Amino acid sequence: KAKSAGRGTFRFFTDAMDREIQERRALEIDLRRAIIMQEMSLVYQPQFEIDGNKLVGFESLVRWSTPERGSVSPAQFIPLAEETGIIDQLGEWVLRTACKEAAGWPEPLTVSVNLSPVQFKSPKLVSIIVGALSSAGLPPSRLDLEITEGALIENTEAVLLMLNQIKAMGIKVSIDDFGTGYSSLSYLQKFPFDKIKIDQSFIRSLETNADSAAIVRAVTALGKSLGMMTIAEGVETESQLELIARDGCAQVQGYLTGRPLAADAASELISTRT
Ligand code: C2E
Ligand code: MG
Ligand code: MG
Ligand code: MG
Repeated sequence: KAKSAGRGTFRFFTDAMDREIQERRALEIDLRRAIIMQEMSLVYQPQFEIDGNKLVGFESLVRWSTPERGSVSPAQFIPLAEETGIIDQLGEWVLRTACKEAAGWPEPLTVSVNLSPVQFKSPKLVSIIVGALSSAGLPPSRLDLEITEGALIENTEAVLLMLNQIKAMGIKVSIDDFGTGYSSLSYLQKFPFDKIKIDQSFIRSLETNADSAAIVRAVTALGKSLGMMTIAEGVETESQLELIARDGCAQVQGYLTGRPLAADAASELISTRT
């Protein structure tokens, strides 16, 4: 009896696993077609200088929506795109689209684009970035590339070489989700980032966890002494904003100051704010 129940359980698990593999495969097929089907779009979340409440730019965030699936979260499809190599094509589309849309914004507003660590495995990355800028007519100084510590873990030397080329062209480079990965401090020493994005997990616990406040203060001070700007991500409340301002953080990005907006809504915000 016990034996057959065990077998039944095993069968149940393999069926569930098969189903999961099938679903993943179906998602991958849809993802491969998504750009051609014009199912991808970008939304733009405003970034403000805290002092003077001045709009300085937007972070582009990719959105995928299909008639059958509705909207699929980037937390779901970005990892799949990375595992399947689709990220190269998707990443290029994001770069080209963000540069083109930002070229219509007034100077000196910047657009931040997220780069996946996987994109640094392609030797074509730098030329893809150059191509996106030149076909959009966007000056390099108005593009900001966000990378996570994950990009620097493998092939550190090769990635640093690419980052130095990128930086030499006048493009800005930010370190995203700072404080969540490994060896954060050694990366700050190895590469002159323009901006440190303090991860939203520290902001979320700012009022309830004294350590978070200490971390925000320390990162801000570190940034200042290394000549790097600091921006807090995921600021949702007035009291969080007050705390990061008190701790010396220069910029803010979060639901409090602005949700991600469709391109036309971003342009509308620009016209009321500049
Ligand atoms: P990220 O680059 O750290 O982006 C910030 C995420 O936090 C975004 O989620 C944004 O909508 C969300 N967010 C902003 N303010 C708040 C807030 O006040 N509260 C809360 N709870 N959340 C806030 P989203 O758009 O779902 O993107 C998730 C992640 O997916 C991004 O994290 C980034 O790692 C990745 N991603 C998004 N677009 C792209 C892309 O074009 N390329 C690549 N490679 N990754 C992307
Ligand atoms: Mg980002
Ligand atoms: Mg982030
Ligand atoms: Mg993140």
